[in-house]
Amino acid sequence: MEHKVATTTEGQSIRCKAAICRKAGEPLSIEEIIVAPPMPGEARIRIICSSLCQTDISFRNMQDHPAIYPRILGHEAIGVVESVGEDVTEVTKGDVVVPIFLPDCGECIDCKSSKSNLCSKFPFEVSPWMPRYATSRFTDLKGEIIHHFLSVSSFSEYTVVDIAHLIKIDPAIPPNRHASSAVVYQQG
Ligand SMILES: [Zn+2]
Ligand SMILES: [Zn+2]
Repeated sequence: MEHKVATTTEGQSIRCKAAICRKAGEPLSIEEIIVAPPMPGEARIRIICSSLCQTDISFRNMQDHPAIYPRILGHEAIGVVESVGEDVTEVTKGDVVVPIFLPDCGECIDCKSSKSNLCSKFPFEVSPWMPRYATSRFTDLKGEIIHHFLSVSSFSEYTVVDIAHLIKIDPAIPPNRHASSAVVYQQG
């Protein structure tokens, strides 16, 4: 049964901790950040666990484009939906989800085809923004924008992910198995 509390974070900004990559090659900085509510087509996720991948390290060390700073890295994780944007029906509050860096809109010719898994509505790119709006949902406590990474940015207690980058999974599977299934899904 869902635990009801008097106050809700839905529709509100959330203040939480994140590991921010502020400069190429430097250690990640653990700071408090503000995570804005999800826009239509997005969900805000409470990250349960996140793995560290060589790609995160490569981007931590990268000097030039597509590197950008400050940024929240992390792209292999599992989380629980905290709230969803307007008109989102694909996932709902409390769903266990795996964010994926390769989008699947489920509507375009390539997502519907059995011969392709590369979405043409949201082509893969190492963008610093949310895919539908080209804006960020993260700011630091001074109001500076913090950039997204691979549409996931899981090195944060909360992140916002487009629903085209989310897979709902069976909550009965232990979280440590989910993380590896995310890797298999993305590489396999
Ligand atoms: Zn990876
Ligand atoms: Zn698609």
